[in-house]
Amino acid sequence: MLESSGKLVMPGFVDTHNHLWQAMIRGGCTDRDLFGWFRSCTDPQRGLLTPGALHSFVRLAALDAVQSGVTTLVDWVDIFSYDLVESYVRALAGTGLRFTYAMYPPAPDGALVAKVKKELVDPVPLGSFQIATHAARAARSDNLAHWELAQDLGVMLNSHVLERPEMRADDPVGVLDGIGALGPRLLMNHAVHLTDAEIAAVAEHDVRLAHCPLSNMRLASGIMRLSDLGRRGVKVGLGLDGGTNDTSDFHALMKTAIGLQRARTTEAGVFPQVHDVLRMATLGGAEVLGLADRVGSLTPGKRADLLVIDPAALNFAPRFDWTGQIVFNGRPENIEAVFVDGRPLKLGGRLVDVDTARVVREAEAAAARLRSA
Ligand SMILES: [Zn+2]
Repeated sequence: MLESSGKLVMPGFVDTHNHLWQAMIRGGCTDRDLFGWFRSCTDPQRGLLTPGALHSFVRLAALDAVQSGVTTLVDWVDIFSYDLVESYVRALAGTGLRFTYAMYPPAPDGALVAKVKKELVDPVPLGSFQIATHAARAARSDNLAHWELAQDLGVMLNSHVLERPEMRADDPVGVLDGIGALGPRLLMNHAVHLTDAEIAAVAEHDVRLAHCPLSNMRLASGIMRLSDLGRRGVKVGLGLDGGTNDTSDFHALMKTAIGLQRARTTEAGVFPQVHDVLRMATLGGAEVLGLADRVGSLTPGKRADLLVIDPAALNFAPRFDWTGQIVFNGRPENIEAVFVDGRPLKLGGRLVDVDTARVVREAEAAAARLRSA
C-alpha cells in the first residue's frame, strides 16, 4: 500500500472464484442451502438463457466487480452451446477486466474446448483459460478426461470440492488424487469440509484453494478450516462465488474471512489477520492462479492493476490504522479509481465510458423477458 496526496494506492483485488451469469438470480432462494438453491434458482433459470440475456447479466456483474475494485476474476462456467459461450466471453472482454474463463466441458468435448480457447479466449490480451470440473466418484472418467484436456492445453484444472458435508460420499479429493491431479495446477473451490489428512495432502502437493466465505455463509455450507490451512502454508485466494453472495463487495469478503475464523475458534489472534487477508485478496490470489509474476502487488515490472482509495469519507476517516481500515471500514464506494493493465476503468468514482443506467436497463429487460418466458 502506498499513500499519495491523501489517497491510498493498493493492488487490485483478485477474485479466484465467480459465476457472473448468476447475477440474474441475485437475492433469490434465500431460504435454501446449496442443493435447494440449485434446484429452485440456478437450474431452472440457466435453461432460459439466450446469448443476448447472458451478455447483459455477465456485463452487469463484471462491471459491478470492476467498480468494487476487482481487477482479475476467474469465472467457472457450465454453460455449453458455442453461441452462449461466445456471448459470455465477449461480455467479459468488453469490460477491460483481466479474466480467466474456466470452461466446464460437457461430456469432455476436446474439440469444442480447443475451439473456445483458440477462437474466443486466446485473442483477448487479458483473457486466460482453465478447464473446470466437478470431482466426484460417479464422474471419475469425466474428471480424468478433464484433467488430460487441461494438461494438453497447459492450463489449470478448476474443481468444486467438499462445499457441503454430504459431498464426503463423492470423495472428490480421493478422486483428484487417483487421477494424478493433486498439484499446483489444481484449483479447488470451497474445500470447506477437508479432513486433517486432506489438508496435509493439499499442503504437500501445493494444491491451490479458493475460499468463498460470503457464499458459504449464505448457503449454510459451513466454515473452511482456513486457520489450519494457513498454518500449513497452503496458497488460498478469495472468491465472491457468483449470485450466491449477491454482491461484489471485496471488503465484506475480507472482513468475513477474518470474522468466521474468530467466530469458529473464539480467538482474535487466529489466522487470518488483517494483512493476511489483504494478501489473500491480492498477491495470494495471484499466486493461486499462477499470475504472481504479472499482478498482485505494486512492484516495478508488473502490470499496473491497482486501486486508488479515498479515505476522506464518513465511513472511513479519521486515520488510525489505514490497513485495518481498508479491511474493516472500506466499501466499494470508497474506491475512487481502478486501473487494469495500466488502463483506467474507474476514475473519480465512476466507471469510464460506461453508461451504467443503460447496463442496468438492459439487464432488467432481459430478466423481465425470462420471467415471462
Ligand atoms: Zn462455485
